[in-house]
Amino acid sequence: MSATLFVGIGELATPVQSGSWEVRTVRDAGLMVEDGTVRWVGPRADAPATADTVDLGGGVVLPGFVDAHTHLAFAGHRADELAMRAAGMDFAAIAAGGGGIRKTVRHTRAASERELLEAVSGRARRMLANGTTTAEVKTGYGLDQETEQRLLAVYASLAAASPLTVVPTYLAAHAVPPEYDGKRGAYLEEVVLPGVAPAAALGARAVDMFVEQGYFQADDARRLAEAARAHGLGLRLHVDQLGDHGGAALAAELGAASADHLEHTGPEGIAALASSRTVPVLLPASVLGLGLQRYPDARAMIDRGLPVVLATDFNPGSSPTLSVPFVMALATRTMRMTPDEALVATTVNAAQSLGLADRGTLAPGQRADFTVWDCTDYREVACWFGFELCSRTVIESRTVHLARRDPQDPRPGETA
Ligand SMILES: [Zn+2]
Repeated sequence: MSATLFVGIGELATPVQSGSWEVRTVRDAGLMVEDGTVRWVGPRADAPATADTVDLGGGVVLPGFVDAHTHLAFAGHRADELAMRAAGMDFAAIAAGGGGIRKTVRHTRAASERELLEAVSGRARRMLANGTTTAEVKTGYGLDQETEQRLLAVYASLAAASPLTVVPTYLAAHAVPPEYDGKRGAYLEEVVLPGVAPAAALGARAVDMFVEQGYFQADDARRLAEAARAHGLGLRLHVDQLGDHGGAALAAELGAASADHLEHTGPEGIAALASSRTVPVLLPASVLGLGLQRYPDARAMIDRGLPVVLATDFNPGSSPTLSVPFVMALATRTMRMTPDEALVATTVNAAQSLGLADRGTLAPGQRADFTVWDCTDYREVACWFGFELCSRTVIESRTVHLARRDPQDPRPGETA
């Protein structure tokens, strides 16, 4: 395949490493790709000659987003719960009435593999349309061996059919299903742990557990970590979402790739992460979605040098958003993160948390996964929210999403 030079780039912004990761911009840029790989990036005027050029129309170019925490596969929705919450019902009351996660588990168990594949395929297309090119995808709405394995099979089919890169995680330890009410230990022994080997065979790359008071406990996580190690799988953990129970330190102790949520993690937990290789994955849309006030202390984590990751936590209950730009907008408003920190957190830091060294920046040798935005300054991507700004998504040089835009329309921050 011959090289293609992408031009018509008003501004290209990418993380570059100078000690820590910083955002570097090039105005009126050129981006040369070949065989799905970036070959050259720089001012267009300096670009090597090539016969094949593609004009991107003058927007902002960014590396494709890596969404490092999603619950993509489930059936149904939970829109009925909004009115219940408006009437003052809390989550325990909604769950007692058969709603919440158990409702999603019921619908997911009843869905066929084909129905689930259609659902995740549609969601994957919406991810692409919002600039995400790689996503970690968890199971966890089956909560029995058969359905958990069906979800992994659905992810394998999605990976084969969609240009989106999917990285599956086995999360049978998401909740205790109704048939094991009050028997968490038995659920762990009979379903979660025996499911690790088949999950590895079906393409899972990591295991995950919801560790919280009243849910799974530290010793359960230690058992799961052991099983993961035995099958060559990584470990990711949901911790410290509802209280500081030492979850961050537990994740660090177990050598987890990531500790996710961390809304209540205090200085000790942050110090434990800082002396480990475990990366914090922050999910501010779930705080908003639950109507809570306490966001993770991203500022303290970044100031300790931690490579903070931002992700959507896409799920039908607490975080029904597929939009990484929305999460960036939220992080800049609620967690005192700068647009530059939010961009690093959703590209290179997110890729590294998944063990993917070939993406997250636009530099020679990296995958040509990039996105084009209807704005003139890359910081606008973390500024506007609630409408779609992504005009084109390219994966390995191939355009996989193209938005219709009237060329007469000014961009949102432009005066004609
Ligand atoms: Zn989650």
